[in-house]
Amino acid sequence: MKIEFKKVQTVEKEFDIKLDSVEFSGTFCRISNNLIKLNSNIIGKLMVECCKCGEEHYINIDENQDFILSDGEFLSENAREGEMIIEIENHIVDFDELLLSELESIKSDYHICSNCQSNDNFIDIEY
Ligand SMILES: [Zn+2]
Repeated sequence: MKIEFKKVQTVEKEFDIKLDSVEFSGTFCRISNNLIKLNSNIIGKLMVECCKCGEEHYINIDENQDFILSDGEFLSENAREGEMIIEIENHIVDFDELLLSELESIKSDYHICSNCQSNDNFIDIEY
């Protein structure tokens, strides 16, 4: 789903897209000339790699993420805590791309598969 930046209105609108087994939903609205606020909820299953053995496994995700979308360069004095700043190119808000980059950042977090986790527990007990 794509929306032209200048067509986003100041009244909150809902969105809901799906990508594989992940659902990305929430609301968005314009908060200034070149800023859009987007409150989202990401729910579903995501394939991630174990950082110890490299084994791929699914994790359940259920995350609330607030975004500020900036049309062009974002001025840091507008930054607030807990918000993810995204600079938009070509004046187009691309929800699929937002979701994809969010999923990529979840994937790059520290994940441990259940095998390695139980090994860890074992080591903890040993020492
Ligand atoms: Zn592992």
